[in-house]
Amino acid sequence: MRRPVWLALLILVTFVVGGCVGASAIIPAAAVAYKGASKAAEASRPINDSEEYYVGRAVAARILGKYKLDQDPKLTQYVNEVGDTVARKSSRPNPFKGYHFAVLDTQEINAFACPGGTIFITRGLIQTCKNEDQLAAVLAHEVGHVANKDGINSISQARWTQVFTSMGTEAAKQYGGVAGNLVGLFEGSIDDVFKTIVVNGYSRTAEEAADAAALTELTRAGYDPNAMVILLTTMEAKGAGASSGIFKTHPPTSERLAKVKASVGQSPAESQGEKIRTERFKKIVS
Ligand SMILES: [Zn+2]
Repeated sequence: MRRPVWLALLILVTFVVGGCVGASAIIPAAAVAYKGASKAAEASRPINDSEEYYVGRAVAARILGKYKLDQDPKLTQYVNEVGDTVARKSSRPNPFKGYHFAVLDTQEINAFACPGGTIFITRGLIQTCKNEDQLAAVLAHEVGHVANKDGINSISQARWTQVFTSMGTEAAKQYGGVAGNLVGLFEGSIDDVFKTIVVNGYSRTAEEAADAAALTELTRAGYDPNAMVILLTTMEAKGAGASSGIFKTHPPTSERLAKVKASVGQSPAESQGEKIRTERFKKIVS
């Protein structure tokens, strides 16, 4: 799916003005010239949070080209409440525009974390969860990917250097129009992230780090981290022989399970709080 022109322009404007956002932002000519002069320095700097957000938004749009958004407002609100609860306890509680959680209307078992904090979970994965603590475990894992910047880091350094190097000259030359080369480069950056999160998956190291982050978030937020062990056990059974969805992009569930089990203690008896959370979950997820 081609990116709409307005989005390409929006990303371009955001990158050029560096932090000033909005489709109506105006690029001062002096800023363009200045950016052109400092392009060498730009090429070596890391991607900032607002740039990450806009790349993430384009990646999210691409995911919505592949999957249908679930329209149940109660379910979406609930997923956002649970997601925000764990995200607040993460190592990155405040990305540029906060976290946003959305449900994809598919039976596929999957979840995606776009750079900057847009997180998708499929209805199939929600229904695999037996209670709120397990749903929180999935969302905490995805928040872990955002906090660790795994998505944005999947853009190759070579591509990024090319983006920054072209930026000054292209923006100055084609100010007021669509800078074709830049749009192409942004498309490439978005491709890098999309392919990583939807097709190829992150490295094992990144997955282990996201699982570890999830356990910390769950514990801090008052959820039972053992929910992750129970969910992975269910997923291991469901995923036997499966090579699609989350089973394709993540390390074997048995490996994840062994590592997570090793760092989680014995599950406490079901608390009153957990009972209430499970009832809430069952009311909304049918
Ligand atoms: Zn993951």
